[in-house]
Amino acid sequence: MKATAGTDAALIVRNARLVDGSVVRLVIEQGRYAAVIDEGDDAGLPEPDGVPVIDAQGHLVTESFVNGHLHLDKVYTLPMAGDAGLAAYTAGSMGGAMTSIELASAVKRSYDRSWIEPHVRRALEAAVRHGTLHVQAFVDVDTTAGLIGMEAVLAVRHEYRDLVDVQVVAFPQDGLLRDDGAAELCEEALRRGADVVGGIPWIEHTDADAEAHVEWACALAAQTGRRVAMLVDDAGDPSLRTTAMLAEAMLRHGLVGRGVACHARALQLYPQPTLLRLIGLARRAGLGFVSDPHTGPLHLPVREFLEAGLPVALGQDDIEDAYYPFGRHNMLEVAFLAAHLLGFLSGPEQRWLLELVTCRAAAVLGLDGHRIAVGNPANLCIHHDERLVDVLREHAAPRYVVRDGVVVAASESGGWVRGVRDGCGR
Ligand SMILES: [Zn+2]
Repeated sequence: MKATAGTDAALIVRNARLVDGSVVRLVIEQGRYAAVIDEGDDAGLPEPDGVPVIDAQGHLVTESFVNGHLHLDKVYTLPMAGDAGLAAYTAGSMGGAMTSIELASAVKRSYDRSWIEPHVRRALEAAVRHGTLHVQAFVDVDTTAGLIGMEAVLAVRHEYRDLVDVQVVAFPQDGLLRDDGAAELCEEALRRGADVVGGIPWIEHTDADAEAHVEWACALAAQTGRRVAMLVDDAGDPSLRTTAMLAEAMLRHGLVGRGVACHARALQLYPQPTLLRLIGLARRAGLGFVSDPHTGPLHLPVREFLEAGLPVALGQDDIEDAYYPFGRHNMLEVAFLAAHLLGFLSGPEQRWLLELVTCRAAAVLGLDGHRIAVGNPANLCIHHDERLVDVLREHAAPRYVVRDGVVVAASESGGWVRGVRDGCGR
């Protein structure tokens, strides 16, 4: 998996406050961290001529953000889909999740690259502005959408290749056994440039069909040297078991550490012994998880998974589509919402939130070397505030976003002017 492109970029970031409180100088050469030096060590801090310098002014500098899961072909389609799916997806027990998938599917009958591509561009622009430089994007590939959404996403990904890394998942949203022909279309999508084998086994009509669905995906991933990412157990039903099926198939096919389970909301309803067995199995399989607590009433038991040391990421999941009306591709906003929904409010829990959208999320996607450390690619955000609590509270676009040592976005803090009374409609 491509982590970052090589560049010749050199940059120095002075007075960068890392999340551990240390204030350092980041020396970047050829797009990577060449040195991380304590600013207190003023003897011989290198500052070669001609290298651009940014003074972070003691404000927080973090790794760039990682979005573990997004339905990129569907962004901004809510006006076409209507609100009925929203109500079905977020209803108390989530029994209506299947209904909302069927309602959302109607949009795909009018799929056309001419309107999908501008939507995808808008979502990737928003990503870069907010410092989200790695995205795992699910793209529907089925007998309704065909390869139209996939072609649109692959084309726009190419346009944005110097700004953001998009891992594209060929996703048979309507099932495989339920949708005859979807498997062949997914295989074709991989040949055309999709990176990851997708799946949604819980949607099949029987457990045997769900097993066959998982088996197809993991066998294909093993054969073609790909990763696998699935949407599992996404309804309020504690009898759903496709997360375990995925972990078992990864072990069978030699895919340890190369699989991701998204949503997995049913796990919140599992009896504790069942959950603990699954956590043990997931650890053996190296299965990563992505949770999007802002999109519905149930979510993965994130705290238990973090305490067990499993790789977990947060995902934006949706941007104004049939399942969720908001979303700015701002992972700090996603983390802020998760703080409330997961009850992650203390200082150590705020650090967890940051990890869930930076380094732990990178581990879920199989990206190596995401942390700010010598030798790693220089993908970072320079924020407007010194403390993590303020950065989370404001969830503002970073002051600077740096990719491979190159500034790719800059934002002012947004000012407030006192005493302006005109134009308030009074
Ligand atoms: Zn999703």
